[in-house]
Amino acid sequence: MGSGQVTDWQGKHVTVAGLGVSGVPAAEVLHARGAIVTVVNDGDDARAREQAAGLEALGVTVRLGDGATLPEGTELIVTAPGWKPDKPLFQAARAAGIEIWGDVELAWRLRGPESAPWLAVTGTNGKTTTVQMLTSILKAAGLRTAAVGNIGVSLLDAVLGDEEYDVLAVELSSYQLHWAPSLRAHSAAVLNLAPDHLDWHGSMEAYAKDKGRIYEGNRVACVYNVADKLTEELVREADVEEGCRAVGFTLGTPGPSQLGVVDGILVDRAFVENRHKNAQELAEVSDVHPPAPHNIANALAAAALARAFGVPPTAVRDGLRNFRPDAHRIAHVADVDGVAYIDDSKATNTHAAEASLASYESIVWIAGGLAKGATFDELVAKSAERLRGVVLIGADRALIREALARHAPEVPVVDLDRTDTGAMLAAVQEARRLAVEGDTVLLAPACASMDMFANYNKRGDAFAQAVRGLGA
Ligand code: ADP
Repeated sequence: MGSGQVTDWQGKHVTVAGLGVSGVPAAEVLHARGAIVTVVNDGDDARAREQAAGLEALGVTVRLGDGATLPEGTELIVTAPGWKPDKPLFQAARAAGIEIWGDVELAWRLRGPESAPWLAVTGTNGKTTTVQMLTSILKAAGLRTAAVGNIGVSLLDAVLGDEEYDVLAVELSSYQLHWAPSLRAHSAAVLNLAPDHLDWHGSMEAYAKDKGRIYEGNRVACVYNVADKLTEELVREADVEEGCRAVGFTLGTPGPSQLGVVDGILVDRAFVENRHKNAQELAEVSDVHPPAPHNIANALAAAALARAFGVPPTAVRDGLRNFRPDAHRIAHVADVDGVAYIDDSKATNTHAAEASLASYESIVWIAGGLAKGATFDELVAKSAERLRGVVLIGADRALIREALARHAPEVPVVDLDRTDTGAMLAAVQEARRLAVEGDTVLLAPACASMDMFANYNKRGDAFAQAVRGLGA
């Protein structure tokens, strides 16, 4: 189908792989444009049946419990981003020369000729926060915009809905990028790259390559993390439009073509006249909430994308000042007896937990859950000197305990062997016992939550509830 916008869908046989958040709207839109749509779905549960009934009423064919067989006559597959590339359905499609698009590719191809340009963000951690900061900055500049992707407005709504935008701030996961070969952003940022989702991508190289797709065809700026060489390499490997610039962000003093920090001030040495001599003040570190180092990095990346779009410095400052992160991302719950209790339940991998632990001096760390194949030696070795004590919870806590024994044998560890609903309360009480005035009790589990909780929100809520109980 080439790589341009597709306007004529009449009679095209499209297979939508996977019901759910992206599959149902994709099937509806394609059907409305005249395509002959078949949805295939692995599961056959009550929710799937309900969704299927809705689509069948429109005239869409749905095959439940069979996501493996390629429907006869398929000309294009539109897949849910999470479906693994090695699935038999895709093997069959590739063998037959059939293109496979993800939800991002579909939105990109369906957008109108006048549709708003995309400022895109990916990275192992910090995507949501950065996109929200960017949206806040763009709004402060008076631009019509929205946070799009896994958050806020759905991609299809953003490109096809009635709302008009000047620019979109788009969060993209590595899965989405894998399935979005023809996406061309105005400018894009890769915040950081640490091993994650390797079971899906197959290898770190494949994961990095998929993340790097975000830079392909950028027009104005490819924003990279100076402290993360891999992100810079991805910029170098990308095929961009003539004149597109590589722009770095750093927590240190910025060089030419970089944004960075000087004496507590966020400064821009990329989007200024004569960047070899001049620097432009954008905001103060205290304008960023919370002012933790990794979050300053997120703010600089957001500022770089906004500046690439021509936003003035005052709007960067105002946008950052107005911004507050979502719940469970380094959220201050309470101070009890001179100890701060912080909920970073969203730190679901070791890279995020490392950033979180680096934000405080003396920590009682609550960690554990589902490790998803991660190892903890590097995290523990880097954070050991900040640890007053550790309380371990969850299924894979032995992995963290062993890493602590290797790299921080002096640090007291409480190993909570329980997974009942009261376990978080017990963890918080143990943490309180270990903490002394001036310490921070930090929930930054470095693991997924599903062994004990429905999701990271519930885990964070349980922590906050337990902390509030302490003060009573
Ligand atoms: P994502 O959308 O990529 O999951 P979020 O903005 O939701 O990212 O942040 C998730 C977690 O990652 C936060 O709770 C925090 O612990 C950590 N984090 C945020 N920004 C960074 C960063 N720049 N580097 C490392 N860790 C980060």
